[in-house]
Amino acid sequence: MWSPGAGGRRRSEPAPFRAGPGRGPLDGQYHAAVAPANDLAELARQAAVCVRCPLAEQRTQVVFGVGAPDADLVFVGEAPGRDEDLQGEPFVGRSGKLLDRLMAEELGIDRSRCYIANVVKCRPPDNRDPRPDEIASCRPYLSAQLELIRPKVVVTLGNFATKLLLQTDQGITKVRGQAYPMGEFHLVPTYHPAAALRSGGVVVAEMRADLVRAKLLLGWGS
Ligand code: SF4
Repeated sequence: MWSPGAGGRRRSEPAPFRAGPGRGPLDGQYHAAVAPANDLAELARQAAVCVRCPLAEQRTQVVFGVGAPDADLVFVGEAPGRDEDLQGEPFVGRSGKLLDRLMAEELGIDRSRCYIANVVKCRPPDNRDPRPDEIASCRPYLSAQLELIRPKVVVTLGNFATKLLLQTDQGITKVRGQAYPMGEFHLVPTYHPAAALRSGGVVVAEMRADLVRAKLLLGWGS
C-alpha cells in the first residue's frame, strides 16, 4: 500500500511516490484540470509523465487510450490490467478479446473505428479496484479525451466508468438497459467484459443488447 512516508524499502523496490507541487494527493487538488491540449497526442504526452496519484509509482507505462481521434463511439473501462500495463494499450487481454468480438458481431467494426480508454490510466497494484482519490486525480484526462474526441455515444464498461460518468451510486445492473442523454453525447452503460467472462450467457446477451442500443443511437443500422 502506498504511503508518503513509507520506509524500509528493499533496494530493488521503486522509489516512493512523491506528489509534485500543486498536482498530487498531498495538496488535495484531485480535480485540478490538466493543461489544455490541442489534440489527443499532446494530452497523451502529458499523461505519459503524470504523477498526479500514487498509481504512478508501480506502473510500467501510462495506458492512455487507443483508437480514432474523431470516433463517434468511445468505450470507457476501469483500469489497465497486467497485459495492458505491459503493452500500453487498453483491453488487450481476455476481456479485450471479448470486447473485440462483441464489437465486430454487434457493431460490425474493429477498434480502429472507435476509441477505447479507461477511468484511470495506470494499473492499480495486483489489479485491485481504483480508489476514489485515484479516480478523481485521473478524471481530468478522461474529461479532456471526451472533449477532444466529441463522440456521439459513450459506452461505459462496468461500475467504475458508469458511476463516474453518470454521476450515480447505483450499480450497473440497475442502470443498464437504457441510454442517458448527457448533453454532448448519449451514455450507454453496460457490463465490464470481465464480468461477462465470469458470468457467461445472460450477461453476454445483455452486453449485446446494450451494443445494439449504441448502434441505433449512432445511426449505424436498424
Ligand atoms: S492513474 Fe492517472 S492521475 Fe494517476 S498517475 Fe496515472 S495518469 Fe496520472
